[in-house]
Amino acid sequence: MPPLHHSDDSSKAGPAPAFCCMTIEPRYRGRFAPSPTGPLHFGSLVAAVGSYADALAAGGEWLVRMEDVDEDRCRPGAADAILRTLEAHGFQWQGEVLYQSRRKERYREVLEELLAQGAAYPCGCTRREVERHGHPGVEGIVYPGTCREGLPSGRKPRAIRLRVPDEELCFHDRLHGTLCQQLKQEVGDFVIRRADGFFAYQLAVVVDDLDQGVNQVVRGADLLLSTPRQIHLQRLLAAPRPTYLHLPLVRDDKGRKLSKRDQAHPVNDTDPVSGLLAAWRFLGQPLPEEPPATAETFWRWARSHWDPARINPDAGS
Ligand code: GLU
Repeated sequence: MPPLHHSDDSSKAGPAPAFCCMTIEPRYRGRFAPSPTGPLHFGSLVAAVGSYADALAAGGEWLVRMEDVDEDRCRPGAADAILRTLEAHGFQWQGEVLYQSRRKERYREVLEELLAQGAAYPCGCTRREVERHGHPGVEGIVYPGTCREGLPSGRKPRAIRLRVPDEELCFHDRLHGTLCQQLKQEVGDFVIRRADGFFAYQLAVVVDDLDQGVNQVVRGADLLLSTPRQIHLQRLLAAPRPTYLHLPLVRDDKGRKLSKRDQAHPVNDTDPVSGLLAAWRFLGQPLPEEPPATAETFWRWARSHWDPARINPDAGS
């Protein structure tokens, strides 16, 4: 089964935002949300360039958020190094950088709300038990639902899971069109607070986008599979759904997504223009006639030349 199903029926993705004559269109607000697990590599530079160019071209705002919720995976100094790299490449973000590691109180509050609604429940299963009883899904094993109706007697709560509906969830992506996923069969009830006590990325990202008023999400296509989970959470929290654009992934010569943890292809802060032009070309954008002298000149030119219709969704594969 393909991981996400294309649908020609765009009405399945829900109503298009009704921006007409009587309503005021909300200002574009995008973000770049790296996980500080290592220095910025070329793949994350592509995501940063795509989201920043899209925000600049729309005359919008652009925020930076450090997704350091999984503190075990974060490397000391990586967040500062990423910010230095962004600065060296001429990115300018609005306001303070938000750190997920400082938002635990807020995540806890939302978790309590979801538990009180009955939308989430404690799960006592170990990873091994889930692997033994679950079936393969689009991203790992689908939880078999053991603790869905209550913890079996004698079991202690470990993680907190979110109940998913038995329905096809569809959304619209600006590059990929209408995509659908059967959350229950393909993903299953998913973890929002892990057994080690850390909040899961899926919860943090939705709460942060909501609290920061982010209405445009431009990020790597590896997160297409997570989007239906995030939309389900948005619905439970009565959060507005952002517009999505998932960019092609940069892969290594073995076809794997570049990872910060592998220290793959770090970006050179002393030659920002080369990195920016390479990312621009990867995104299918024609290069300027004259190479720009500085990152600032590049961005002055880029803001009026960005055309997302030129992105090849299969560029990295
Ligand atoms: N923190 C994620 C990453 O570095 C990005 C999450 C997002 O943009 O929603 O891959």
